[in-house]
Amino acid sequence: MAPVPPLPPPVTVPLQLESALQLLGHSGQAPPPGDPSSPEWMQALIDALVDLSSRDALTGLANRRAFELALAREIDRVARSGEPALLLALDIDHFKSVNDNWGHNAGDQVIKAVAHALIDSVRPMDLVARVGGEEFAIILPNCASAFGETVAERVRRRVERMPVQIGLGQELSVTVSVGGAFAPQWVRSTPALWVERADQQLYRSKSQGRNLVQLEPTAVSVVSSEERRLLFETFQIQDHE
Ligand code: GH3
Ligand code: MG
Ligand code: MG
Repeated sequence: MAPVPPLPPPVTVPLQLESALQLLGHSGQAPPPGDPSSPEWMQALIDALVDLSSRDALTGLANRRAFELALAREIDRVARSGEPALLLALDIDHFKSVNDNWGHNAGDQVIKAVAHALIDSVRPMDLVARVGGEEFAIILPNCASAFGETVAERVRRRVERMPVQIGLGQELSVTVSVGGAFAPQWVRSTPALWVERADQQLYRSKSQGRNLVQLEPTAVSVVSSEERRLLFETFQIQDHE
């Protein structure tokens, strides 16, 4: 092993923290408490910025970046542990007409209410993300395939039954279409392929009338040619060991 080079001497540079503190302020957060010259304060500031960069500003849910990181982690976990995991893709039905009929602010209220309903209908260990304008995704680790339909239906019904206050005593109700796919346990998939499968099911829900759940029938029978290629590559590596 090559020798580890000695660390360079510490350099003292003046830190420009104003923009970091301004960013926190804009998101409604106070600066971390404590002594700004202490390492603990600096770590608290870094933690707050990391948290900020992984959240969606409107709903407080995980944003697309955090979702993609979590998805990659979950694929690794499934491959190691063999525990099934479910990915749900959700899209608000006819959302454009909410904006058109009630205005953009009402649309934002609907997005926030749906986010709340999603968080409310899953376990704390599940990750709920806003991945687009009126599009959401939920990663459900350790979700047995027999329960997939039940969980997805619970989420769909929770949104359907939720009245949304849009101001001046007005109330709306909205629905979501849901598509779902399990991570294949016997082949290392990729985040993009997993999302593609859940999206295909979401399109089926939309085309069959909306306010529906469609789950991939079984993980094994619908493995794509790309995933089959990944599987065979894995076997080849094992054959040579
Ligand atoms: P479908 O049932 O097929 O999903 O129809 P839809 O009307 O929901 O779908 P479409 O993709 O046509 O409309 C999505 C709309 O969401 C278009 C866009 O203006 C709106 N939108 C995207 N982001 C936001 C947002 O942050 N706030 C609000 N109020 N509207 C948004
Ligand atoms: Mg959409
Ligand atoms: Mg929509």
